[in-house]
Amino acid sequence: MIHRHWLAELKLEGDYIREDVPPGKIASFLAGFAASGYVGANVTVPHKEAAFRAVVRAEPVAAALKAVNTLWLEEGRLAGTNTDVYGFLAHLDESLPDWTARTKMAVVLGAGGAARAVVYGLIERDVGRIVVINRTRTRAEMLAAEIDARVTPAGFAELPQRLRETDLLVNATSLGMTGQPPLDIDLGPLKPSAAVYDIVYAPLETPLLAAARARGHLAVDGLGMLLHQAVPGFERWFGVRPKVTPTLRSLVAADLGARERAR
Ligand code: NAP
Repeated sequence: MIHRHWLAELKLEGDYIREDVPPGKIASFLAGFAASGYVGANVTVPHKEAAFRAVVRAEPVAAALKAVNTLWLEEGRLAGTNTDVYGFLAHLDESLPDWTARTKMAVVLGAGGAARAVVYGLIERDVGRIVVINRTRTRAEMLAAEIDARVTPAGFAELPQRLRETDLLVNATSLGMTGQPPLDIDLGPLKPSAAVYDIVYAPLETPLLAAARARGHLAVDGLGMLLHQAVPGFERWFGVRPKVTPTLRSLVAADLGARERAR
């Protein structure tokens, strides 16, 4: 919907379609990509690591995360990047323009692929302290060890104490997503000036965001990240940098809403 909207808006010929590739077939699919007729692709979970291994050239952000979500061809060979970091930051910049000045400490829930991108983005913007809280503590420890010494791993038992100090709380777990268990946390101890960013976008208004708004926190939803992460890929493939507009946002939000109601 996002890419087709931009193609129509910019009057460009082209299409964006879905391919269902099972994990056992991803390596051969990407090995034959140059001959497939496509100019590029996005890959999603669980293929981002396989896509990283398949590229001849990875941009530094993708090399750091060892995960590629956007592919294109350079002289017939696969190149790739990871646009989740860009999407996460672009939407935060748009929602809270002075967030870097206000954010001395951030708490990130989750230690999966999306959390890695979030933490990388926070480090890129020089956030001084980042606490990664994850159900499986060893995963948080691995993330901290691999990414940066500013990252402290922790378990959910430490959450209330960490919330008191944090300027930005990010949910990068899959909890709260349609079909997943709820993210059951108490925002009571959260610093009153903190912003809350939920990167889950289905449903658009997650219980975490609703609770944050009810307590007067600035709430940043996951849809903006989804829309912004699509921009660099479109530009690579079609040669024009598209804009994330209120019209596009309304279109996708309406679609997400309709899907929720149909469940
Ligand atoms: P992932 O690699 O599978 O990681 C899932 C994370 O959620 C892990 O930290 C996992 O903890 C935690 N988790 C899952 N079930 C849990 C439970 N029952 N209790 C506690 N923790 C639980 O997934 P991902 O790719 O990082 O994606 C995470 C979410 O981000 C998804 O909802 C995805 O849709 C969203 N996302 C949004 C955007 C966007 O553009 N807005 C982009 C990327 C991802 P363990 O390590 O303990 O398993």
